[in-house]
Amino acid sequence: MADSKKKGDIKLADQLKRILQRLDAIEEQIQRNQTDDDESNGTVAKQCCCLPTVPERVLEAGIDPGRESLIRSIEKKWVNGTELKYYFFTEGDWGGSSSQQKVVKDAFRTWKNVGIGLSFKQVNQPDLADIRIGFKQGDGSWSYLGRDIWNRPVNERTMNFGWPLRGQDGQDTALHEIGHTLGFNHEQQNPFAGIQWDEEAVYQYFAGPPNYWPRNQTYHNILKTLDPNTVDGSDWDPNSIMQYAFGAGLILFPEEFRNGLNPEPGLSEIDKQRVRLFYPELEDDEQELKPFESRRLTLGPAEQTNFVIRPASTRRYSIQTFGISDTVMVLFEDTDGTLEHLAADDDSGWSRNARISVRLVRGRNYVLRLRLYSSRASGDSAVMIW
Ligand SMILES: [Zn+2]
Repeated sequence: MADSKKKGDIKLADQLKRILQRLDAIEEQIQRNQTDDDESNGTVAKQCCCLPTVPERVLEAGIDPGRESLIRSIEKKWVNGTELKYYFFTEGDWGGSSSQQKVVKDAFRTWKNVGIGLSFKQVNQPDLADIRIGFKQGDGSWSYLGRDIWNRPVNERTMNFGWPLRGQDGQDTALHEIGHTLGFNHEQQNPFAGIQWDEEAVYQYFAGPPNYWPRNQTYHNILKTLDPNTVDGSDWDPNSIMQYAFGAGLILFPEEFRNGLNPEPGLSEIDKQRVRLFYPELEDDEQELKPFESRRLTLGPAEQTNFVIRPASTRRYSIQTFGISDTVMVLFEDTDGTLEHLAADDDSGWSRNARISVRLVRGRNYVLRLRLYSSRASGDSAVMIW
């Protein structure tokens, strides 16, 4: 009796196993079909990234256009050497499976492997993270742009993936959203692209499935040409990871894209050059900044210098730039090679100097990173701690 029950259990387990295997096979087939659909260009509309809108940072009235141009091209970028910490929501509406998280982790690695001075680290608490990543399906894929993510509340997402990340298309979506977090904008809005749109066709295309965008959303993400000041480099790169794919009939000129535009997969060579321009690999050139010794800053636009600070006593310190310049200054605490962001100031666009007031502890190490937007006077600027 016991034997026959045992045999029955084994039979049932076998059946269950076979059913599960069949379900797996069916799911794989569905995924393959979906990827085929995604990749059959032109016939199936793609879901596209939609950036959240953020008010433009206010600069002093009457600012010189050349100075504004430099500020706008750099203001969303990180100081080089920043370690950006990312967190994945795992539960509820915003939660993502480990396979979806892996696609995003791989995309961080791909950007890092270009050879850049930024680094990325996963953390397990949202309040420790700079980048907070959700996977709310149906909520679109988007990211805040560069340093704008620091203005988001710590319990909110700074990035979302609103559709399953599958195949090459999924990898490209992850690379694209991380590109926004690094401070890069949509390439189709590059004013040097010279794209002439069939605007009404574009509005209709994005109003339909699967995007269902209202007109202002389509305008904001596609048709609105960006200020030339905010664009990195002058040339349009149709293969950029920041460039959307478009079906036939949306672009009137250049003629070669009338039948559609399909950027090559992955990061383009120009993407790699651009990211290395702002975030080159760090050289071991940090000098020590000692109290009451002013250090001259001889930097060109967008260039950065780095100092180490080793306080001799525990107390409150002030760190400030002098002279007429636009600078962003960020202070990190160095804990066994991991840099924790402590304080920052950005004086660009205003008639004041960047200044940080902070308590430093004897025996600990700190790193000050300072990027120049522009030097407005012929004289140099300087930085000092006291
Ligand atoms: Zn985008």
